[in-house]
Amino acid sequence: MAKVHNFSAGPGILPAEVLQQAAAACLNFDNMDLSILEISHRSKNYVAVMDEARQLIKDLFEVGNEYEVFYLGGGASLQFAMVPYNLLTENGFAAYVNTGVWASKAIKEAKIIGNTKVIASSEDKKFNYVPKGYEIPKDADYFHITSNNTIYGTQMKSFPKSPVPTVCDMSSDLFSRKVNANDFALIYAGAQKNMGPAGSTMVMVRKDVLGKTNRKMLSMLDYNVHIKGESMYNTPPVFPVYVSMLTLRWLKEHGGVSWIEKINQQKADLLYNEIDRNECFVGTVEKADRSNMNVCFLPTKPEYEAEFDKMIKAERIDGIKGHRDVGGYRASLYNAMPIESVHVLVDVMKAFEKKIG
Ligand SMILES: *Cc1c(COP(=O)(O)O)cnc(C)c1O
Repeated sequence: MAKVHNFSAGPGILPAEVLQQAAAACLNFDNMDLSILEISHRSKNYVAVMDEARQLIKDLFEVGNEYEVFYLGGGASLQFAMVPYNLLTENGFAAYVNTGVWASKAIKEAKIIGNTKVIASSEDKKFNYVPKGYEIPKDADYFHITSNNTIYGTQMKSFPKSPVPTVCDMSSDLFSRKVNANDFALIYAGAQKNMGPAGSTMVMVRKDVLGKTNRKMLSMLDYNVHIKGESMYNTPPVFPVYVSMLTLRWLKEHGGVSWIEKINQQKADLLYNEIDRNECFVGTVEKADRSNMNVCFLPTKPEYEAEFDKMIKAERIDGIKGHRDVGGYRASLYNAMPIESVHVLVDVMKAFEKKIG
């Protein structure tokens, strides 16, 4: 049977070899004759997994010991609350850029914790671009951005120089391209878009930004507690962290971020070129801000959709339906997606145009 071409926006595609290793570990982990699902997270074999996962993130980001990495449950959405809880002072304020649904949710939580200003927004055009040219207040406690807007398909191609600590939600383009991680004070990402299965979120924080609020901290919401506990203050999401570690190992062994960045650019160019060439489809986003991870496009006539849906189904293309806020199609091209799958999609788009012709 031909393989399914998985364009799902999240949870998204994982490397086939990672899935094989993960499946094997469910039966016999590390030759222990035990499943990874039934051993203590404090066992030597599992502590090694957690340590390797945390180190891989630092290696791939090329940061030193001023940064700490840990994994938490609760999704990126819990970080919408934990970031202000840990960084926003009583008399200070946080500066946010609103680039869509996820940024809006982050802003909503920050407003509950403390003073929050939205310093730029692309809401006026249904989030189809990334705001630029705004000023970041020098007296903000931190500046929060979303590097890739998963739902609307926009991506920050560069990051503004900030006079205050920059916090970034990288859930949907983590390790998809080179970034200068040392420019960020805190990076968080839910694993299920580009790093692993759902159930774990990675946080990387530069230690000097912590401990500035006078808040009496709840233990589970305190970054310092998780740092001290070496990401095992309580039982971590054992299996999701394991699969995330395997995925990061896969990335590093194949050549790291610079290797995948080239492939991701080829995949995105291939699909955007076809969208721009093909009379039957149109992109939804300003060209300069197009995401290399989530490619959103519409049929030029709504009645095309039913026929095109039939054709993609016949080619076993899956997970490509657009988010309900945008409609049309969203092809997610995460790290594990082979370029061959993008070729299959582009060929169907060409065949569709001929048929409509
Ligand atoms: C998916 C996503 C989230 C939400 O992640 P959860 O793990 O479901 O909480 C947040 N931010 C971005 C950019 C996302 O793509």
